[in-house]
Amino acid sequence: MDWRSLDQQYIVSTYKRLPIAIAKGEGNYLYDTNGKGYLDLFTGLAVNVLGHSHPRIIQALREQGEQFLHISNIFLNPPAIKLAQRLIEHTIPGKVFFTNSGAEATEAAIKLIHKWTAAEGTGRSGIVVLSNSFHGRTLGALRLTRQPHVYQDFPQPDFPVYELKAGDIDQLRAVCEERRPAAVLMEPVLGSGGVVPLAESYLQEVAAICQATGTLFAMDEIQTGMGRTGKLFAFQHAAVTPDLILFAKGVGGGLPLGGVIAGEKLQDLFKPGDHGTTFAPSPLSAALGNAVLDELLDAAFQSQLQDVTQYLWDRLEDLRAAFPEQLQSLRGKGMMVGIPLSVSPEEVSRLQQNLLEEGILVDVTQKTIVRLLPPLTLTRGDVDRFMEAFTREMSQLAAGKEA
Ligand SMILES: *Cc1c(COP(=O)(O)O)cnc(C)c1O
Repeated sequence: MDWRSLDQQYIVSTYKRLPIAIAKGEGNYLYDTNGKGYLDLFTGLAVNVLGHSHPRIIQALREQGEQFLHISNIFLNPPAIKLAQRLIEHTIPGKVFFTNSGAEATEAAIKLIHKWTAAEGTGRSGIVVLSNSFHGRTLGALRLTRQPHVYQDFPQPDFPVYELKAGDIDQLRAVCEERRPAAVLMEPVLGSGGVVPLAESYLQEVAAICQATGTLFAMDEIQTGMGRTGKLFAFQHAAVTPDLILFAKGVGGGLPLGGVIAGEKLQDLFKPGDHGTTFAPSPLSAALGNAVLDELLDAAFQSQLQDVTQYLWDRLEDLRAAFPEQLQSLRGKGMMVGIPLSVSPEEVSRLQQNLLEEGILVDVTQKTIVRLLPPLTLTRGDVDRFMEAFTREMSQLAAGKEA
């Protein structure tokens, strides 16, 4: 079957696809229709937290699949109630509103922030975001996504948005004091914006300014959540308390699920009829989410994750030391890694292609940054396999430079 030409014929081409048709996934590997295996260091964009076909996920899929798939929001939904309770118990006091995706979580956040300003009657309006942020592609969310190639000239709602530079605390203080925005929304690690972690001290200062100026403090944990950076949610490294947390991606164990955790200031603002969706929370997605949490909260899993994360960063540091010209610095946090290469976009693209031929799947963002979003089930053996191939590619790049 020529999947590539059928894809081109029948599916709108909003993505540049790798010409590989996937037949199955197992553990940290994907297999194509020819049986070739790929170490998956992309995990469907930070979705498959436990790799592929994890026994806990398969079990939850079977058990819930045999009960019911969809019931709508007319009934009590035990798997979703349980997931919401656990998310709250491991983050901040509040309540959960579930969605089907990350962008819809951002939409819910925009509406909640609006409800809050209306209820407070303070005349506040607008949301502060960072340059290069990504908060989704629906029109409301797009207003908060500050990457020109993403927002283009699509129509955007006209609520005020203040775009600030990450790390510039004086600028943020001035805007919060003088413009009186309703909320500040940030990714703790800018993901598609180049894998840029915000300093913990910066996040603490942002939280303090929000507190002092009465501005809501919201964290977009859609990519950084579910153990990705070593804590369940990345804001927990900085020990700050957001008013609002956005989640999605890994939360449904591979199925669509997202939402917001609304802290105490916001938790009761939506009344029946104010917001809703047919599908979310899918009981099946919620059951899988519970299975992911079972694993993430397991002490043995956490210590294995810590060990392999340290090993990965140590080996990356060796690589940086070996190729100081092409690789000046590493970025990221936990299992969210950016490897910015000082070579041309074409060379980075070729490197990605060569790795793929060697059976290793990595992502590239912002043209020259190799991005790793590995499964949290990564092993030291997987790291060795990646490093061996990557070192070989880097040697070739370095040799090319000299020639
Ligand atoms: C992926 C992502 C989104 C959008 O999620 P979708 O499910 O693709 O709509 C929003 N914010 C961040 C930080 C993301 O990484």
